[in-house]
Amino acid sequence: MQNNPIKKWVIGVDVGGTEIKFGLFDDKLTEKWSIPTNRSDSGSHILPEIAGEVHRCCLRNGISPEKLRGIGIGVPGPVHDGGEVRSCVNLGWENVRAAEVLTGYLSGFPGWTPENIHVRCANDANAAALGEMWLGGGRGCRSLVMVTLGTGVGGGIVIGGKILNGSRGCAGEIGHLPCLSEADIVGRCNCGNRGCLEQIASATGIVAYAKREMQRTSVKTVLGKAGEETLSAEMIFNAGKAGDAFADGIAEKMAFYLGRGMAAVCAVVNPEKILIGGGVSAAGEYLRAKTEKHFREQAFEGFRNTPVVLAELGNQAGIAGAAYMIISEQE
Ligand SMILES: [Zn+2]
Repeated sequence: MQNNPIKKWVIGVDVGGTEIKFGLFDDKLTEKWSIPTNRSDSGSHILPEIAGEVHRCCLRNGISPEKLRGIGIGVPGPVHDGGEVRSCVNLGWENVRAAEVLTGYLSGFPGWTPENIHVRCANDANAAALGEMWLGGGRGCRSLVMVTLGTGVGGGIVIGGKILNGSRGCAGEIGHLPCLSEADIVGRCNCGNRGCLEQIASATGIVAYAKREMQRTSVKTVLGKAGEETLSAEMIFNAGKAGDAFADGIAEKMAFYLGRGMAAVCAVVNPEKILIGGGVSAAGEYLRAKTEKHFREQAFEGFRNTPVVLAELGNQAGIAGAAYMIISEQE
């Protein structure tokens, strides 16, 4: 199969809680599409629907199973080394062997057999990190750490061109690094613990922190005009960029902890680059520069100059990484 010019096609699938994204790749993205995630009946329709989409894509592009190198899938939960997805709350899955099950559904199509179908499954944040290494902000690297700042904080670690999965599929769970000082902890993390990075570096975390600080300060801030319900991470960053000292202080605090978390991760894996992605990273250079400054101040000198860069692929990182899981197996 190695260097087989006939087997040039790969399909990357990114399974999200609301949408399933697909990408057809050779050495680049050639077609992409998406379908809504059907979460009814404990998510049991998801894999058959993916099989149907893969099959239709191959038909319309004239790709026989012999020309398809494989299908990579990213899912929003930990994937054990054996390929089992133990629990995926967003999809309603419990103990699903996604790769095997998808192979089973695909085998139902004429000409498709378990022998000519190759499927791999990984956690979506880990896949996104791999995608950024292939086609995005980590191009040219063989190792990187990516932190994804969204509603929560996810992460992915790539070492030697491969995802670092961990024995229980939980490697790279950067959002749950316990790193907040007691004075800056507001409530509890979604995981039940206190002091996780996610509690200040996620969109919801920074808003909760800002609300608490607003009640404690006498400093005037434009954020005070936003109602309790309408305050968002974007508003905090925009106000900070516009010179609001209170908002800038909140962003500074978040970047301090993000820098601390990255310094801790780098002390373990010493990557070539640190990438910041996810919806919150739309704050762009403002957030990147702050994070880099705080990272440098707290990092061990041996890796103090690790570049901190913004991710580039946005929500396409997942499909790219899922596809590259298959491609990189044969490199
Ligand atoms: Zn946590």
